[in-house]
Amino acid sequence: MVKAVVGANWGDEGKGKITDMLAKQADIIVRFQGGANAGHTIINDYGKFALHTLPSGVFYDHTTSVIGNGVALDIPVLISEIQSIVDRDVPMPKIKVSNRAQMVMSYHKLFDQYEEERLGKNSFGSTKSGIAPFYSDKYAKIGFQVSELFDEELLREKVVRIAEQKNVLLEHLYHKPLIQPEDLYEELMGYKKMIEPYVCDVSLFLHEALKEGKEILLEGQLGTLKDPDHGIYPMVTSSSTLAAYGAIGAGIPPYEISKIVTVCKAYSSAVGAGAFVSEIFGEEADELRRRGGDGGEFGATTGRPRRMGWFDVVASKYGCRMQGTTDVAFTVLDVLGYLDEIPVCVAYDIDGEITTEFPPTYLLEKAKPVIEKLPGWKCDIRGIKNYEELPENCRKYIEFVEEKIGYPITLVSNGPGRDDIIYR
Ligand code: GDP
Repeated sequence: MVKAVVGANWGDEGKGKITDMLAKQADIIVRFQGGANAGHTIINDYGKFALHTLPSGVFYDHTTSVIGNGVALDIPVLISEIQSIVDRDVPMPKIKVSNRAQMVMSYHKLFDQYEEERLGKNSFGSTKSGIAPFYSDKYAKIGFQVSELFDEELLREKVVRIAEQKNVLLEHLYHKPLIQPEDLYEELMGYKKMIEPYVCDVSLFLHEALKEGKEILLEGQLGTLKDPDHGIYPMVTSSSTLAAYGAIGAGIPPYEISKIVTVCKAYSSAVGAGAFVSEIFGEEADELRRRGGDGGEFGATTGRPRRMGWFDVVASKYGCRMQGTTDVAFTVLDVLGYLDEIPVCVAYDIDGEITTEFPPTYLLEKAKPVIEKLPGWKCDIRGIKNYEELPENCRKYIEFVEEKIGYPITLVSNGPGRDDIIYR
């Protein structure tokens, strides 16, 4: 069977921890979209790790970690990530990389940086990992697929064509140094050497695994609201963050995905620009940011402070619906233990109209939060293992959210560790 672990919100919901936990029962864990622009933080017996490219299941020796065709494959980052975990005594993971994945090139990162510089105050807040230029090139059909590394004749011709095209922008739009075709070729040959041992026909591998009854976990990056179609366009990422895309980004039939665990955070946080209706500011935000996640809400890749807000029913209900949620994993609930009252954004007020349906961006920009306050529980809930042992107000908060979003909360995460989990 195939399970997907995906985000309901803007990312950083704690998918890494939930995947790591569910990976215990899985045979294969697949990354199906995104790139090294976001990270997962995982705390386990080996220590604390920030992963960007490797799936969260790499710490188990019974699992195979797969980079699917939908991923923006940054080969040097992948290789150094493998090295960094092996250096910390994690056994060498079994890794397979799709021969149909495309590669992030050094110029993608440069273009990302140059474009953000050019946009100045209108920039997207990109992590400058090359993700947007990478996916643009993939769909403009000028990307480099891993399989092409094994056709040197094709590459020799293609690097000339690509350099010619990129150089027009470098010269006339960005006024930056030009690309030499020979350097591109050398870069690709370097990647070939690094990636060759891992290259695999991933969809065939997964097809065989499904026939053998293996359990596959698909691990998403970011969350619904960053999806290019269904998110807060244009302040979105460049690949689909939805479970449905898992079928494409891994190369499996869509009907195989029978469980969709949507990770939803007990409050809101977001990185990058864009409308964020339940956002809070000042000391109120600073305190939540300081107490949030594990050691504060700061980007795993960039270290930049995340924008903070209260739980948003409208965004989360939509976030769960677009994923096709079968189970909600409600995370970082322990963080809210300091509050006397917990504000929740239960609806949006758009020009005087109250709605609980998530609108397109131009209306979202005008939305004001309708806030309802729930009583806090004023204690530390970490370490609790049974739902009934949670304080009454904490259970009421969970049940309030569950009722409002309309999807079953079957997992409650009350701490960053693998075992900080309550099943319902
Ligand atoms: P992801 O991108 O969705 O995998 O999320 P991140 O890993 O970037 O962010 C989640 C952060 O919250 C990490 O620092 C986790 O260790 C931490 N975390 C996950 N679940 C919990 C939880 O239930 N409680 C607390 N306090 N921290 C958590």
